[in-house]
Amino acid sequence: MHCAAMAAPHPETWIRITPEGLYCEPGDFHIDPARPVPRAIISHGHSDHARPDHGAVLATPETLAIMTARLGEGRAGLQQQSIAYHQPLMQNGVRVTLVPAGHVLGSAQVVMEWQGSRLVVSGDYKREPDPTCLPFEPIPCDVFVTEATFALPVFRHPPIGHEIARLLDSVALFPDRAHLVGCYALGKCQRVIAALREAGFDRPLYLHGAQASMCRLYERFGVALGELRPVPRPAKRGETVLPGQIVLAPPSAESNPWARRLADPVTAVASGWMRVRQRAKARGVELPLVISDHADWDDLLATCAEVDAPEVWVTHGREEALIHALDGRGVRGRALHLVGREEDEGGDPEPAADTAEGEEAA
Ligand SMILES: [Zn+2]
Ligand SMILES: [Zn+2]
Repeated sequence: MHCAAMAAPHPETWIRITPEGLYCEPGDFHIDPARPVPRAIISHGHSDHARPDHGAVLATPETLAIMTARLGEGRAGLQQQSIAYHQPLMQNGVRVTLVPAGHVLGSAQVVMEWQGSRLVVSGDYKREPDPTCLPFEPIPCDVFVTEATFALPVFRHPPIGHEIARLLDSVALFPDRAHLVGCYALGKCQRVIAALREAGFDRPLYLHGAQASMCRLYERFGVALGELRPVPRPAKRGETVLPGQIVLAPPSAESNPWARRLADPVTAVASGWMRVRQRAKARGVELPLVISDHADWDDLLATCAEVDAPEVWVTHGREEALIHALDGRGVRGRALHLVGREEDEGGDPEPAADTAEGEEAA
C-alpha cells in the first residue's frame, strides 16, 4: 500500500491578513500590527512597525529597549517578553524564532513554523554590511514575506564607503562651512557615524537632540560611536557655529530655524531616495548621499532567490514591479497591501514626527 506523506498546510491557511496586519491564527498573535492588539511580535523599532499600546509584546531585547525609549514605559506593551536571536519559543504550538535582519539594531526576521510549513516575515532588511547591527541571515522557507521599498531596477545603492568619501571630500573642500547631514534618528544616524569612523574620521561629531538619545541607546548595547557632542548655541546673536564640522540631524532639519546657527551649512541627506536626482533637487539638498538601510533591487531579487521560497508575499512599497520580476523567475508573488505609513525611508519624503522630537533637547 502506498502511503502519501501528510502535506504541510499552506501558510495561507494559518497566516491571515486582518485590518491590524499579518495574523498567525494558531499562535494567536500579530506581526508588526498597525493597531493595538492583545499579542504582537515586533520586527524592529521603527514607528511603522513598533506601534504603541499592545497587550503582550515579543521582540529582541534591543527592540524592546528602543520601543520603551520612544513610546515610554506605559505604551511599549503592557507585558514585554524579550527573545534572543536564534532561541525558538513555542506560541500555542507555533515555533517562533527571531533571526537578524541587518536593518537596524535589534531588527529581526520572524520565522514561524507550524505543522511542517515555514513562513518568514523579514520586516525591513538590507544585505550591505553594517557594523551597528548583525547581518541578515537567509532562512529557506515556504513563504517569504519581503518589503519592497526600493523594488525598482533604478534603485541600486552604491557601497556606503563611496558616499562617505564624497562627504569627507566636501568637508575638506569647504573648511568654512558646517556639513549638515539629514538622517533618521534610529539606524541611519548610527550607521553614518560608524561609517565615518571606519573611514578614519576621528574628530567629534555633532548631534541634533533628536539623534543623541538613540545614539546613547546604541552605545549601551555595545556599538561604539566615538566622541559625540550636542550642537552648541552661538555665543552672540548673529554668530554661527561649527565651521568645518559634521552635524547629524533629522531629515528636513535644514529647513528649521534651528539650522540657522550653523556656519553656512552644506546640506546633505543620507537616504536611498537620493538616487532620484530630481527628488534631491526639489528638496534643495546640496550633497545627496545614497545611503539606505533597505535592500536595493538587486539585493531584493538575490535574497528571494537565496531563501528559495516558491512563494513570496510583498509589502511596503513597489509591490507590482517585484512580483512581476519574481514571476519571470517562476516564483509566485502576492501583494499584501498592508496599511501603515512608513517611518524610515519607506515613508519618504518627511518623517515629521521625528523632526519635531527633541528639537532643542540635549
Ligand atoms: Zn524599518
Ligand atoms: Zn518599514
